[in-house]
Amino acid sequence: MKVLVPVKRVLDYNVKARVKSDHSGVDLSNVKMSMNPFDEIAVEEAVRLQEAGTATETIVVSVGPAKAQETIRTALAMGMDRGVHVQTDEDLEPLAVAKILKEVAAAEGAELVVMGKQAIDNDYGATGGMLAALLDWPIGSAANSLSLDGGALNVVKEVDGGLQTVKLQMPALVTTDLRLNEPRYASLPNIMKAKRKPIEAKTPADYGVDTAPRLKTLKVTEPAAREAGIKVADAAELVNKLKNEAGVI
Ligand code: AMP
Repeated sequence: MKVLVPVKRVLDYNVKARVKSDHSGVDLSNVKMSMNPFDEIAVEEAVRLQEAGTATETIVVSVGPAKAQETIRTALAMGMDRGVHVQTDEDLEPLAVAKILKEVAAAEGAELVVMGKQAIDNDYGATGGMLAALLDWPIGSAANSLSLDGGALNVVKEVDGGLQTVKLQMPALVTTDLRLNEPRYASLPNIMKAKRKPIEAKTPADYGVDTAPRLKTLKVTEPAAREAGIKVADAAELVNKLKNEAGVI
């Protein structure tokens, strides 16, 4: 079984986002970028499937600028076999990314796609669902665990207040939740080995995909600054303020 893992290079989750002065987006100059955390979990799951002898080949794909190659190398250092880099400097929206990933999945003969449930930069949470629809494959979203069961895949999903187990016919697509696994750190020997693993260079045009935007970002703003807190003398004053000033009780 060939497993395909799409990964996105995003602003590192530890970095505080700064909005550009013209409010057109987040300033990404000179800030640390990393693999989307949900995608690291997808990479880890694919590598585990290979270690268990279930996956025969693991392929990582990223759609993005030249530096997306670094993100692909990280996945290769974690243990994936080879990469596909679809280079573009455009910030593509989920439908365009999903159309490209569909063509990559078809070209690679992937039987399972494991990907993040959302990218933490724009929080669309849309690409997985769109890709499953374009491929006409079943989707196990927000997976908490997965296991192969003959020609099917059992996926335990996180739903409000509990867990739901679904059985998907293969080929299938799974999106990862945070509790699926704990991604490994790449060891130095594996980082060195990853430098020799192949990365195929492609462009959206190679797949004949129309990437014209259908969505326009009008404005990006910082969250409102929090007001400074105050100290109260006792519980009576606190209740009085909550009742008469904040109006919350
Ligand atoms: P989103 O729908 O943007 O929240 O992204 C959901 C998931 O789609 C991510 O966790 C990635 O697995 C995948 N994805 C989104 N954008 C890209 C991209 N440019 N290249 C590769 N995978 C992507």
